[in-house]
Amino acid sequence: MAQIRIEHVRKDFGSFNAVKSSTFTIEDGEFFMLLGPSGCGKTTTLRMMAGLELPTSGEIYIDGEEVGMKPASQRDIAFVFQMFALYPHMNVGKNISYPLLSQGMPKAAVKKKVGEVAEILGITDILKRPVGGLSGGDRQRVALGRAIVRDPKAFFMDEPLGALDAEFREHMSEELRALHDRMNATTVYVTHDQLEAMQMGDKIVVMNHGVVEQFGVPQQIYDWPATKFVAQFLGSPSMNFLDFSGMVGSNANQVSLGDTLFQIPKQIDGAVGNLTLGVRPEHVKLNDNAEYRGRVVATEYLGTTQIVSLATANGMVKARVASTEKISVGQTTGLNFDARTITIFDAETGRALKSQANEKVLNHG
Ligand code: ATP
Repeated sequence: MAQIRIEHVRKDFGSFNAVKSSTFTIEDGEFFMLLGPSGCGKTTTLRMMAGLELPTSGEIYIDGEEVGMKPASQRDIAFVFQMFALYPHMNVGKNISYPLLSQGMPKAAVKKKVGEVAEILGITDILKRPVGGLSGGDRQRVALGRAIVRDPKAFFMDEPLGALDAEFREHMSEELRALHDRMNATTVYVTHDQLEAMQMGDKIVVMNHGVVEQFGVPQQIYDWPATKFVAQFLGSPSMNFLDFSGMVGSNANQVSLGDTLFQIPKQIDGAVGNLTLGVRPEHVKLNDNAEYRGRVVATEYLGTTQIVSLATANGMVKARVASTEKISVGQTTGLNFDARTITIFDAETGRALKSQANEKVLNHG
């Protein structure tokens, strides 16, 4: 298996700069997610690591070896595409065995290997079936089988579940993760779905407009976003942003929004000017006695919780509270924020200021 490292990798298509200067490391055995909106450069990054696209500049290392000049065929990586194309005229077993037979492996060894892979994927009983009549899930398993059978250094998957309906997608994502845990193979997975990335990934890199905004383990990124973009892209509803202007000194542990003072984690960076206080909906508490006020403009029932939208002097705030709390549209109430979980952003650059709470997680330099 493999550790993959990319350093200052850039990709231009003519005058268009698709990937700016990406640097991150995928550790051996990790399930690593490349996450971001459409067009942010995820697929291009994956294709450069696979050797299907040449970087304009920068280096790519697989297990410490610089592979910039190595063609895809020599990087020993298996690609699983969204449109898991199978050979329609071959049965399941033949589809899986094809990569080995075309490498010239003896037939007996191929049979043994295909049997092992079918066992792992739970498709032993359909090895003789034509692929034409298979369900979407079985087709996906056969495509995976064809990738696994080669024992590649790493698996690259580009939105492999994108074409599936929601329920089936969830089932397959659990299966993929379980398969990864059994095999411990380095896997790089492209998705635009933040929930999928958080559910499946050991680590996530979040990209936007060709720039790596942040990478790290899902919970750290969710709790301590390095930028407003990341704070917005992860979580549903996304983080609340309350704009204010003023000053946050280093060592400061409170800020004022209007006349109300809010406790925040102790700051390391200081900043002056336009700032934004970020707080997740689940860390907003409604308390009639709180000084900071909001008017309820909408409630959205979600079963055990509800999302309450409140208009405040600094903008709209969404709170996730228990459905058992009685809240009516039009009422005014007080808001408290959990002081330990607040991030202060520079409103101009969108970057999080460093605080005692997030300093270990931020990696934007
Ligand atoms: P999506 O999920 O929509 O595929 P993505 O994040 O994977 O998005 P990429 O496919 O990497 O994005 O594309 C990044 C940008 O580079 C896009 O604006 C795309 O139009 C552009 N691009 C990709 N390949 C080429 C190419 N061969 N020639 C010119 N532009 C390209």
